[in-house]
Parts: sequence; C-alpha cells; structure tokens
Amino acid sequence: MSNSTKSGLTRRGLLGGLGAGAGVMSLAALTPVQAALLPEPETSESYDLVVIGSGLAGCAAALEAALGGAKIVVLEKASQARMGGNSFLAGGSFSLPISDTAEAHAHYVEDYDKYTLGRGNTEIFALMAEHIHRDVAWLQENGIEVLPAVDRPPNRVSTATVAPGSFAGMPVLFRRMRARLEELGVKFAFDTKARQLIMDEAGAVVGVRAVGRQGVADYRGRSVVIATGGYAGNTQLLEAYSDPNAGALMVRGIKHATGDGLLMAQGAGAGLKGMGGLMALHIAAVDGVETAAGQPAAVVPYAVSINREGRRFVDESLGYVSHGKAVLNQPGQMTTLVFDQSIRDSVAEGVISTFNRLGLTVHQADTLEELAGIVGLPAEQFAQTVEAFNAAVDNGAAPGANPPKRTLASRIETAPFYAFSPLVPGITLTFGGIMINESAQALEADGRVIPGLFAAGEGAGAVFFQDYIGGGSMTNCLVMGRIAGREAAA
Ligand code: ADP
Repeated sequence: MSNSTKSGLTRRGLLGGLGAGAGVMSLAALTPVQAALLPEPETSESYDLVVIGSGLAGCAAALEAALGGAKIVVLEKASQARMGGNSFLAGGSFSLPISDTAEAHAHYVEDYDKYTLGRGNTEIFALMAEHIHRDVAWLQENGIEVLPAVDRPPNRVSTATVAPGSFAGMPVLFRRMRARLEELGVKFAFDTKARQLIMDEAGAVVGVRAVGRQGVADYRGRSVVIATGGYAGNTQLLEAYSDPNAGALMVRGIKHATGDGLLMAQGAGAGLKGMGGLMALHIAAVDGVETAAGQPAAVVPYAVSINREGRRFVDESLGYVSHGKAVLNQPGQMTTLVFDQSIRDSVAEGVISTFNRLGLTVHQADTLEELAGIVGLPAEQFAQTVEAFNAAVDNGAAPGANPPKRTLASRIETAPFYAFSPLVPGITLTFGGIMINESAQALEADGRVIPGLFAAGEGAGAVFFQDYIGGGSMTNCLVMGRIAGREAAA
C-alpha cells in the first residue's frame, strides 16, 4: 500500500495536464531516425518462417505453421523464463459471439464497432467472429484447456477463460504451448532481439538481423511474422503519439513492449495506423501494486465508482476501459469501487478470490459510513451519493442518476458492503499498429503489400480504438496470429 501511494503521488504530480497537450505533440519525436546498420554477421540460419515474439499471437502463428510442416524459429528478446510477453500477464479470456451462428457473429461485430466508435477494424472484428469458436477448439486439440463460455451482458459477447481460471490460466497455456511447439520441431531463440528486417532486391522481406548472447546473427526465412506486441513500455512513443504526459502513466505490462516491431516494419515501408491520442490506449483502473491481476474488470459494470469527493463520475455499465479513462480526470486520479452483498453473490466472487490469492485487501464493512471511514471517503457526501443513486434505480437502470447509468444498475443496500480501493489508472494495451490486410500481410500506407512481411496481435491492424470489449485482445491475437502463420507459411 505504501508503494502504491508513493507511486500514485509521483504520477499525480506529473500528470496535471494529461490530454491538454495533444494538439502540440512533439514533432521532433516523430522524425524518423536513421538507424546505424548492424554488420553482416558470420552466423546465418535458414527457416521457412521467422516469428518475432513469443506472446499469444506469435505462438498461434508458429503453431499453425508448424502443424502445416514449416520449419520455424521464434525470436524472443526476453529470457525463457519470461516467455509469453504481455499475454502471459493477461486475465486469459477470449471473447466469442454468443453462439457460432451468422446472427451472433453479426451482433458481435456490431458491438465491437459500437465500442470502438466505428473507428476500429471491422474486417478484423468479422474475422474474429468467424474464427474464434473454431480457434478455441483448436487450442484444446493442442492440449490447452479452456473453460466453458459465460455470457457478458450488456454486450452480445461471451468469454471463455483459459483453465484453471482468470489470471491463473496463461502461465499454464504458455507451458503447454512451448512443449507442443517444441514437439513439432519449432526452435526458440530466447534473449535474442530482432533489430532489423532483411530485404532482397525485389523489396521482399527475407529475414531478420538480430542480436543475441553470441552477438549479431541472421535468421533467414521465406517470410517473417512480426508479433512483438504493443508500445506501452516505450515512453518516447507514448509521449509523441498519445499525449505529452502519457509517459508518466503507470504501465501494467512488461517492459519489453517497446514497439520494436512497429518501428522495424515502418523501416521496411509499412504504414502505421490508430496511434494518435488517448484513443489509442487501453487504460484500466487497477490496484497500484498488483497492476496486472489486481483488476476488478468483471465487477466494474455492476458497482458504483466513487471519487475522492464522494461522488460518482461515470456510467459504470460502459465497462472497465471507459471507467479507467474517466478516472484520469478525477481528483488524485484514483477511485473506490463500491458494491454490496447481492452484487458480490452475483458477479464478484471470482475477482474477490483473485484479490485474496494475491494478498490484496477487499475492504468490508457493515455500514456505508464505516466503509467510508476505512477507505477514506467523505462520509456525508458518500452517503448522499449512494442514497441518490439508490433512489434513481428503476428496473435495472438509473437514467435519472448523476451521471445516469443506462443498465446493470442495482441498489447498494444489502450489507455487508465492499470496496476495491484505491484503484488507479494504468495502461494495459496500446491499440495502434502496423497496417495489415485480412491475410495479416503488412501494408504500406498506400495499401501496397510488402511481400514476405506479416504482422499480428496487439501491434497490428489498429483493431481497437478508444475502447473495446474485454477478451477482444486475446481473440485478436489468436485469430490473427493463426491466420498470419497459415498465410506466411503458404
Ligand atoms: P501479443 O499479445 O500481440 O502476442 P505480447 O506482448 O504478448 O504480444 O508478446 C510480444 C512478445 O514479443 C514479448 O514477449 C516481447 O518480449 C517480444 N518482443 C518484442 N520486441 C521484440 C524484439 N525486438 N525481438 C524479439 N522479441 C521481441
């Protein structure tokens, strides 16, 4: 707790004007830098396919291509103990259409379009809808257990979580994935950072020049899949593209997410898309210390979120990304998520057991006044806020509340009362990335295909914009990773 308070104070001090400077972003930071070229190395290995990144997208690409008989190397700049990138830290839920029918597919795409303000990648949403049921079954065929899907109202989306459950499944997935890939003959080069794409006279990508423990080495292939994830760990990119103050935001994931793949692809002529402004960031309000799993996403739409002044400030039913972004503009950039026993019984049990497993406090009190004392809220204003909210709840909505809650509203009235507090905003994902087509081929800004270059996952496709529906990023990585692997090995 003292850690979280300390980092919270530093962050608040730095973030005074987040969003205010977006119009004056530093052009200097966007000027391409002429990279010094690495020397041609003595070591050169040849494969059918070179995959950069061992997260979910890279593994899905490698598995698909390996099952087709391709000879593959996966380059990973982290050590083998850190295989899996940000995917390793994910909750481990895939979003799926509620059933595998054309109508449910259409609803899924419509809901993703709505959340992304019509500026996400509809073609990729359609591919996700079409493939994800089959692709989850494919994971199971390859030894990765996934729990049955659960509907996620108010969206027409369900989620299926990697066993044994939320924030516990991804380490298991990566253990099994690695064993399966090695069984199929895939080679992993850990501690090996891809630095440059190698191109031939025809302008096609034919390999990767990388730096590993033994120095520079070339990994030649008929094609290359970039699956290097996002750029949340790259302060310069965040400040240049998202907001001059975004570099001060807490980052939930790995330090390796530095946008290397985006920059390498750009160097080979690829266009980037969806990088600008805070719309390009997924921000969630999380525990300040356990920033990955200390995230009560499933509870947010049902609870009331209360700022330091004791007031609500957002329609919680919009989901945890809208909520996380709204916290950016609250006093002290923190919030308290409050719910009662009935909400605990219906939706909060899973999150509470994750918090308990991590040793995080779930505050509990018999009265709202007592709860206010424990979490440091102004008791009188807090009581008034809850009273006014409760009075406005009518038939599952609270349109007259301030601010209104359009759905999933229930009165906070059954003791004991609970709170996750304080929660602070942190960057989960970056949404912008390498332009790709439906075959995961990298594109130049004018739409030309770059032969031999494929990209998938968090850093490709500019799939989401402003917001998303939980589970979407995992689904994108699996579906587009698999497509990239198939097309790149073809
Ligand atoms: P995704 O969710 O899109 O699969 P992840 O963040 O899970 O992305 O995985 C990306 C992986 O790529 C991480 O393990 C990261 O360490 C690795 N990576 C990033 N840049 C490089 C690079 N230049 N060379 C090798 N591996 C890289």
